[in-house]
Amino acid sequence: MKPFGTEFCDHFAIARYADGAWSAPSVEPLAPFPMHPAAHVFHYASTCFEGFKAYRWADGKGRIFRLPDHVARMQKSAESLCLPVPDAELLAGMVVDVVHANLADIPEPPASLYLRPTLIGTLENIGAAAAPSDEAILYVLGSPVGDYFAGGAAALKLLIEDRRERTTAQLGSTKTGGNYAAALGPTLAAKAEYGVDQVLFCPQGDVQETGAANFMLISDEEILTKSLDTTFLHGMTRDSILKLGAGLGYRISERPFTVDELLDKVPTWEACLSGTAATLSPVGSLVYQGEAIRVRDGQPGPNRARLQKALQDLQYGLREDTHGWLTEVS
Ligand SMILES: *Cc1c(COP(=O)(O)O)cnc(C)c1O
Repeated sequence: MKPFGTEFCDHFAIARYADGAWSAPSVEPLAPFPMHPAAHVFHYASTCFEGFKAYRWADGKGRIFRLPDHVARMQKSAESLCLPVPDAELLAGMVVDVVHANLADIPEPPASLYLRPTLIGTLENIGAAAAPSDEAILYVLGSPVGDYFAGGAAALKLLIEDRRERTTAQLGSTKTGGNYAAALGPTLAAKAEYGVDQVLFCPQGDVQETGAANFMLISDEEILTKSLDTTFLHGMTRDSILKLGAGLGYRISERPFTVDELLDKVPTWEACLSGTAATLSPVGSLVYQGEAIRVRDGQPGPNRARLQKALQDLQYGLREDTHGWLTEVS
């Protein structure tokens, strides 16, 4: 299987917004579409997206994970960027259409179909820096993806960055391109300087998240992660792990915590990154103020494995979906 994000399904879904209304969506062969060079998105970054997965079970049907929640998050992102907000039924219907059209191409678990709804402002006006785009294109890509941990779950190394911000507090919980552009420079610099995989942004000591994944600390009894605020992206994997963890008897602590507390805990607690692509990635070491710090013994821990299995079993149909998180597509 090709690297994550580089293979695409033959069909995608697309709808256009103009004159105050959305067109009926259509499923079309995936192909480049023309865009005016003055389109709002190219100049003023009016863009947001979603990322989540569908699985094909042994019964041949697809199951989309937490579709309504991802649709709601995209609506929130669109609203925060003053883009036309797609109706929930429109967007959810387009996702279902893409899964349906590509059902035969969804690889079996642990592989899956990654879904990427994207909304862009297409108003042709380079003078609209302080005006919203009242024209837009909404499309949904499908991308078959393999098992993220095919080579085993390698423990990641993170730089603790306690000065620079990942992005602005205003757009911290919006899934928008500019946030990744903002985090890219610090992340590349940290990779070059310290050989780390990612940067854990902790401005003024407040432990937030990395460029594209949430952060949590896990002991045998407790899961600790930052409580929801506008500074970071509200991950669905984070939320799912907290709910499944509560069901498994972990105490769930959602509250702000500092780099000092993090450093106190890592000799005995596991550290993980959570996100759709990898579910739960183990963190094996940290770099702080030029010093390397091991997380426990530096190896992936048992609580991460247990929580990841609970989530994957639900997604693969091996455990009852008591939360109603799966949308069936046939
Ligand atoms: C998408 C994303 C996450 C993870 O969200 P999930 O819904 O769990 O995939 C975390 N942080 C950022 C910045 C993200 O863009």
